[in-house]
Amino acid sequence: MVCRAGGNADQGTSVFTTGNWPASRALASYASNPERSRGRRHPEPRPRGRDEFQRDRDRIVHSTAFRRLVYKTQVFVNHEGDLFRTRLTHTLEVAQLARSIARGLGLHEDLVEAIALAHDLGHTPFGHAGQDALNACMRAHGGFEHNLQSLRVVDELEQRYPGFDGLNLSFESREGILKHCSRADAHGLTLREPDGPAARFLDGTRPSLEAQLANVADEMAYNAHDIDDGVRSGLLSMDSLIDVSVVRRHHAAVLHDHPGLAARRLLFEVLRRMLAEQVHDVIDSTATRLEELAPTSADAARQLPAAVGFSDQLAGEVAALKRVLMRELYRHPQVVETTDAAREVVRQLFAAYLGDPKQMPADYAARDNRHRAIADYIAGMTDRYATREYRRLTGREPFGAPTPAVT
Ligand code: MG
Repeated sequence: MVCRAGGNADQGTSVFTTGNWPASRALASYASNPERSRGRRHPEPRPRGRDEFQRDRDRIVHSTAFRRLVYKTQVFVNHEGDLFRTRLTHTLEVAQLARSIARGLGLHEDLVEAIALAHDLGHTPFGHAGQDALNACMRAHGGFEHNLQSLRVVDELEQRYPGFDGLNLSFESREGILKHCSRADAHGLTLREPDGPAARFLDGTRPSLEAQLANVADEMAYNAHDIDDGVRSGLLSMDSLIDVSVVRRHHAAVLHDHPGLAARRLLFEVLRRMLAEQVHDVIDSTATRLEELAPTSADAARQLPAAVGFSDQLAGEVAALKRVLMRELYRHPQVVETTDAAREVVRQLFAAYLGDPKQMPADYAARDNRHRAIADYIAGMTDRYATREYRRLTGREPFGAPTPAVT
């Protein structure tokens, strides 16, 4: 059963008439439908020439926080090499994978893209090390968590519209952005917005299928690109990865098809086949689950068990791969050394702004909740801005002498 995506009804005399605008795509009955969106916190006229989820996607791309992703760490701190993923290139890879799978399943591509493009907006500089340090600084003041911060960015911190703070995204995009939330945080958020995106963490329902998909695509993207970056950096060896069945299988198949292929071409072909297998596996196993669960609408899917994901076999293999990446790459002494330095930068910046708020821009310095203002300010920094601020405020060099870039 399919229903049609809307979005053309309000175009009036716009140049975007149905005559020269692409026909609406067929959406599955369980897809999020912009015509039935739960709406925006601040009501707005319907968009012309695009639907509500396209408008969300476009607002995210034009936001300041989105541009900052280019100089934020994924795993390797930004100055370590020009070819490693940053939050921005990671984000684009997530969006690409998510769109491909959405098309295969009849889900709303623009919604899944909006969620993917926004999913890391709340990340601090220096990746998880930055978040851990900021969370420790905020322990007695409500903590810091990057998913909550992503929602704060799109709800409050972006200031570019005359009538409201934030980007005023639709409920469906906000629901996807709030991927995780503790019960304590969910209680706080639902006090302010009873039917908001945190309510599902209290009532035990699932997010939309598009939100579930963006989450799976995130995992697929970083598992693949962290192998690429890990090997490129010299910290991860193919020998350590070959123990993992999903790598071993494709490695053998590539060498069978291309005897003698070596080095980066071999690695890229293994990664390409791994990703293709995962895309097809998620499409096939999700389609099977959806056939069994038979949700008749996006809301019906929220009441059912999570449907988007790998087959049991591939889920097990991917989990094994993650364990190897954790052991060999994320906990590699050289990565840990850099992340320890990054934590120190965040701690020292926090202390410096707490001691002298005037070191921050006036609008942050003037806020009543000083700790949250500092957290928002630091979370918004790029790696290189945070590094510059650290130099300015402490006179010290955070990561020792700059290392030559690996290319
Ligand atoms: Mg991510």
